[in-house]
Amino acid sequence: MLRKPKEIITAHRQTEGGGFIVRRPFPTNGLNMVDPFLLLDEMGPMDYAPGKAVGAPDHPHRGFETVTYLLSGEFTHEDSAGHKGTLRPGDVQWMTAGAGVIHSELPSDKIMREGGRMHGFQLWVNLPARDKMTIPRYQEVPADGIPTAKSEDGLAQATVIAGEALGVKAVIDTRTPIIYHDWTLQPGAHATTYVPPDHNVFAYVFEGEALIGDEVVTEGQVAFLGEGDDVQLGAKADAANPARLLLVGGVPINEPVARYGPFVMNTSEEIVKAIEDFQSGSFGEIVR
Ligand code: FE
Repeated sequence: MLRKPKEIITAHRQTEGGGFIVRRPFPTNGLNMVDPFLLLDEMGPMDYAPGKAVGAPDHPHRGFETVTYLLSGEFTHEDSAGHKGTLRPGDVQWMTAGAGVIHSELPSDKIMREGGRMHGFQLWVNLPARDKMTIPRYQEVPADGIPTAKSEDGLAQATVIAGEALGVKAVIDTRTPIIYHDWTLQPGAHATTYVPPDHNVFAYVFEGEALIGDEVVTEGQVAFLGEGDDVQLGAKADAANPARLLLVGGVPINEPVARYGPFVMNTSEEIVKAIEDFQSGSFGEIVR
C-alpha cells in the first residue's frame, strides 16, 4: 500500500547557536516531534563573507543522537571525549551523545578565513530509555563511503545515509530502525522505495518541486506520510530543475519524552540530573 502525504506544512525559520538561521520543519507550535525524531534543521544555504560565518560554540547533549549531513562548506567539531574533525560536503557525522558530551560545531578555519557557502542538515534522533546513558559514540563517514542507489533510468538517485533504498544498504548502524535518504529527482523521475510499515515517515523538500504520490510538495515544505509501505517519489517531466528531498523514517520509541534544550530524557527528574551533572562538570570539557 502506498504511503500518501497526510499533512504538508511549511518549515519556519529561526536563529540558532551563535546566530545562524535555520529552516526548521519541526518541532513547531503544533508538532513537538515525529517519534523517534526530535528535530530537523536545515542550516543555510547561506553565503558568508570572510570572518562572518557562525556556528554553535561549546554546548552539551545527553539522551539522544545528532546527525549532521553537510552539502556545502566545512564544519569543524571538537568534543569533551577528545574527538576532533572536519566535515566536508557529503560527509555524515552520526553522534550518539548517550550519557553526555560537550561539543562545538563551528565553520572551519578555511571558511572563517575565506568565507563561503554553508548548507547542511541536522537531525535529532531520540534514544530509547535503555540507551540514553550509553557511552558516547561517533560514526563519521566521508562522502565517498556513503552508498548511493539509482532508479533503472538513472533519473532518481538516493544517497543512503541510513536504512535501505532500492536494495542498497547504508553503512551507518542505528540503535533503533531508521531510514535516512537524500533523493535527487531529475525532471521526469519516478522511484518507488519501500519503508517498513512500522516506521513513521516524512519527506522534507529542500530544492525544487517533488511529487510524493500524486501530491506536489515544494521547497521548504515537509510532508508527513500516512500508513502503508511503499513511497512513490518523482518530479514532473517539465520541471525546470531537479527536486531534492530528505526521506526520513523510524520505528516510534513510544516512551515519555522530557526535553529541555540539549537534554532529552524520559522524566523531569532525569532532566534535573542532566543539568546538575553538566553544571558540576561531570560531562568533562573540551581540552584545547
Ligand atoms: Fe550540538
